[in-house]
Amino acid sequence: LGMPSVPIKLADRRVSRKIQVGSVAVGGDAPVSVQSMTTTRTSDIGATLQQIAELTASGCQIVRVACPTQDDADALSVIARKSQIPVIADIHFQPKYVFAAIDAGCAAVRVNPGNIKQFDDKVKEIAKAASAAGTPIRIGVNAGSLDARLLAKYGKATPEALVESALWECSLFEEHGFQDIKISVKHNDPVVMVNAYRQLAAQCDYPLHLGVTEAGPAFQGTIKSAVAFGALLAEGIGDTIRVSLSAPPAEEVKVGIQILESLNLRQRRLEIVSCPSCGRAQVDVYKLADEVTAGLEGMEVPLRVAVMGCVVNGPGEAREADLGVASGNGKGQIFVKGEVIKTVPESKIVETLIEEAMKIAEQMEKDGIAS
Ligand code: SF4
Repeated sequence: LGMPSVPIKLADRRVSRKIQVGSVAVGGDAPVSVQSMTTTRTSDIGATLQQIAELTASGCQIVRVACPTQDDADALSVIARKSQIPVIADIHFQPKYVFAAIDAGCAAVRVNPGNIKQFDDKVKEIAKAASAAGTPIRIGVNAGSLDARLLAKYGKATPEALVESALWECSLFEEHGFQDIKISVKHNDPVVMVNAYRQLAAQCDYPLHLGVTEAGPAFQGTIKSAVAFGALLAEGIGDTIRVSLSAPPAEEVKVGIQILESLNLRQRRLEIVSCPSCGRAQVDVYKLADEVTAGLEGMEVPLRVAVMGCVVNGPGEAREADLGVASGNGKGQIFVKGEVIKTVPESKIVETLIEEAMKIAEQMEKDGIAS
């Protein structure tokens, strides 16, 4: 077993300035990070911390919490202190909560540009407080809350309108010498969103937070996000991602991680290479793939396991993987690193694969290959 080869990249990363969101760097040469947002009432400190712990366990690196009321603002300091990952306070409307979030030790604050105009006179103070505390700000432009002036100018939330809004908001902070900023320009249409980020990427060097807003339920939202993030990340655009799903936030994290792994922006972990099955299949491939996936769940090493339905493409694919099976005649040929190590009856395929996977994983861990 050798070290994993250097992953092939699709594009060089766009050059962006690096900011520090608590312990997680965003932008520059920092790996693209995955974030999510809690769905609990932030004022319910116990429930929020519980959800943050679940998100952390699922691989979430930065978490955002909504802060619509004074009770939520009051909860921020305990949450920021007890969370295992950096906490970003999401503020709309009230500048006073921005100051509260900074004082509470939040790792960053997200402000909504559709509303910031209302507290223009506060921008200087926010810049001063954020700067003194080293707290970055995310300018979070959303199609749904675009500034009325820009809506009138463009007629709707076009890519140009989103970008103009974001850069204008940035300029309000820049006037006060504040540039500790990252930006998002979210839209529910991946095509508009991709164009907006492309334009934004060309016009500034701030790190970018990618998001398709209101992407929908899990299936549709996953695909919309994967397509949009994939297009941008393949061009080197994007420094941190949030998949928005009408589903539990840990699902968003799983999808985000899978997108990054698919693009080689992150070391792949367990990868099941299973065939779609066809008229030649001599085994129930779906069932076999599901059973192998379930049996190997939680494995942290970059293991590629091939599950093939017959001996036509089976041995070829199985040889390319760390471990694999090609089925035929009620039996499974088990491959490890290209060599058939044994042939087992169909009923023993799953347990044999799991057994062999454990051995390989152990060796990888010894060799320091675990991700
Ligand atoms: Fe069909 Fe065999 Fe290919 Fe699976 S491996 S899709 S069963 S030809």
